[in-house]
Amino acid sequence: MTLRLQKVTKKFGSFTAVDQLSLEIPEKQIFGFLGANGAGKTTTFRMVLGLLDQTEGDISWNNGEIGYGESHLIGYLPEERGLYPKLKVQDQLIYLAKLRGMNKSEAIKEIDIWLERFKVPEYKQKKVEELSKGNQQKIQFISAVLHKPKLLILDEPFSGLDPVNVEMLKAAVIDLKEAGTSIVFSSHRMEHVEELCESLCILHHGTPVVHGKLKEIKKTFGRKNIRIHAD
Ligand code: ATP
Repeated sequence: MTLRLQKVTKKFGSFTAVDQLSLEIPEKQIFGFLGANGAGKTTTFRMVLGLLDQTEGDISWNNGEIGYGESHLIGYLPEERGLYPKLKVQDQLIYLAKLRGMNKSEAIKEIDIWLERFKVPEYKQKKVEELSKGNQQKIQFISAVLHKPKLLILDEPFSGLDPVNVEMLKAAVIDLKEAGTSIVFSSHRMEHVEELCESLCILHHGTPVVHGKLKEIKKTFGRKNIRIHAD
């Protein structure tokens, strides 16, 4: 499954948030999407997910349009986390899994595997609001991957996590890639991308300033010269 963006532009009124962005996100790889606040990462993800219409350009996945119809093939961890605080963890995950086409017993099995993996099996019957922010983030990550999507979109998955949880999540991302999932994640931090990704794009004011394979980019620019623009 290859995700392709061709000259994609998004305008909000007269403001251009994403400008003529062309990208190819190869299948079964981890792709890093870097940029400072406001660079256009979340807007791009929302267009890929069909949550926003692009103003111009094409988005396709194996040459077919991506939108709500294929949502069961995509897993999404949004930047603004959105769990129901009053629901118990297991009930919430079952509910979300069913929305993505899983049956209850299948969902329960997967939920148990993921809660064990993230070392929080005892949270199954706790309400989300009783969990720390970091543990809520792990639950939201589980909700994005439970239905075994082909493409996983993670918006700032490591932000707000302590180093132990960052490592836990990174290991999960690597295992999902090994299992054949195509993954794209956004970050402000080059070190996450260096550790996980084969290819990357750095966005600046909605325009890609660097795009390609990490090895080749490092060869061309040198590690020290790769900067995420913060202005
Ligand atoms: P961050 O790292 O802060 O999440 P980002 O790279 O994800 O940043 P976006 O959230 O995509 O950036 O925002 C890109 C630009 O588009 C910003 O200047 C933002 O203010 C603007 N923008 C995003 N959504 C809207 C909207 N609905 N209406 C108007 N402007 C918007």
